[in-house]
Amino acid sequence: MNSLYKELTPWLDRAYALNSALVLMEWDAETEAPVDAEEMNSKAIGILSTAYYNTIINDTVKDLLWKLSDADDLSPTEASVVKELKKQFDDMEPIPPEDYQAFRSLTARGPSIWAKAKNNNDFGKFAKTLEELISYQKKFIDYRLEASGKTIRPYDLLLNDFEEGFTMKELDQFFENLKKEIVPLLQMVVEKKDKINKDFNHKHYSTEKQKVFNRMLAEHVGFDFNRGVIKESAHPFTTNLHNRDVRITTHYYEDNLESAMFSTIHESGHALYEQHISDDITGTPVGTGVSMGMHEGQSRLFENNFGRSREFWVPLFDQLKETYPENLSDLTLDDFILGINKSTPSLIRTEADELTYCLHIMVRYEVEKMIFEGNASIDELPSIWNQKYEEYLGITPSTDTEGILQDIHWATGSFGYFPSYALGTAIAAQIQAHLKQVMPLEQYLEEGNFEPINAYLAEHIHQFGKTKTTNQLLKDMMGEEFNPQYYVDYLKEKYTSLYKNL
Ligand code: ZN
Repeated sequence: MNSLYKELTPWLDRAYALNSALVLMEWDAETEAPVDAEEMNSKAIGILSTAYYNTIINDTVKDLLWKLSDADDLSPTEASVVKELKKQFDDMEPIPPEDYQAFRSLTARGPSIWAKAKNNNDFGKFAKTLEELISYQKKFIDYRLEASGKTIRPYDLLLNDFEEGFTMKELDQFFENLKKEIVPLLQMVVEKKDKINKDFNHKHYSTEKQKVFNRMLAEHVGFDFNRGVIKESAHPFTTNLHNRDVRITTHYYEDNLESAMFSTIHESGHALYEQHISDDITGTPVGTGVSMGMHEGQSRLFENNFGRSREFWVPLFDQLKETYPENLSDLTLDDFILGINKSTPSLIRTEADELTYCLHIMVRYEVEKMIFEGNASIDELPSIWNQKYEEYLGITPSTDTEGILQDIHWATGSFGYFPSYALGTAIAAQIQAHLKQVMPLEQYLEEGNFEPINAYLAEHIHQFGKTKTTNQLLKDMMGEEFNPQYYVDYLKEKYTSLYKNL
């Protein structure tokens, strides 16, 4: 090992330990902690965040990183760690520690302020916090731009934090094309939607039975329970400490069968990515999924491309019916598949079907663009939001709860995050098209045989963590960088064939 890298190691270990504590406290806040714990706990989170900041941002680490950037005797993993850490250093150094601590403490309180506003359908209760979060982000952007001397647009900087190399230029094109292709397809689908009966989904499904079935689903797709757990939270999510501790949540609704099932498959897709990270890099700054877009590429591949296909349910459908005979005994596999693929423009992103999902993201993308590139005031945002829903989906939210207050992301200080959902959806279609070329994918799904599928994804994508970019991973795997046309083709083919006999 390079001797300078050896000097860096204790700093890495300390940053890793502090980050683990932060991840666990945030996990705990979402799953187990009592409501009143929040104020004191967010104080601790603020202090731990500062300790983390100081571990990375200090003169010793700076000196080591600068010297190591020129070293030519580093192993590939060491070189990737240095590169990633230097990037984090460049992003964080320009931000004064007191601002960083105040921001982290605000983002720890944000979700509960948002939740109260959402429950009371009162945007005004969240507006001030939202304004503060945005102004911190704008301040941080200014600090970072000034330090880097780069002339990059403010919103592009945020987008780049989640997906390197994707800017408004690429995303404008991407969404423009989707609008052109999907809106007409949606019209055809909406005209036929009443021919699909989905009543089975809203019968009574006990939480106890759902828990058993969902655990089986996670296992079915390859989630390793020796390296992971499933708990419950208001909003399903995945978090991880390293490749042997990957945690997912789901949320059970007793009047909605598919909600928890597809959340579980989705989060399992995220979890598989993290469980398959190579032992060589796990626990290091590059030992996690490369980007939000690639992460969503895995979760949506499992949830939609696999999970909503007929083949996926061939080995599972009898078991599903046996679990809930009182509700499903008369249901056929074909009607079930039509039901779980029914497309209807709706107001809530997390309940959106595959076809309308990206239109929800487009609304958020355009609103964020107005916040960071335009002059939209906070008070105007709810009505801008509602107008865009009318324009793209043909429906208008009647309350802010089902409008602008529906997502938690802004309350956690995340802006520029939403587009990665849309990119991920498109990446999933691209990966699926490739898998069909290199293996009998449909046959494996019909057999419930996820081993070769997971082995392939682990070998070509998962194991690398952040040591390759999204475009490099795609190119090395299939000879082609990101190409959203696969996604448009997938949607057209899927919905045309599903709806052709209706
Ligand atoms: Zn996800």
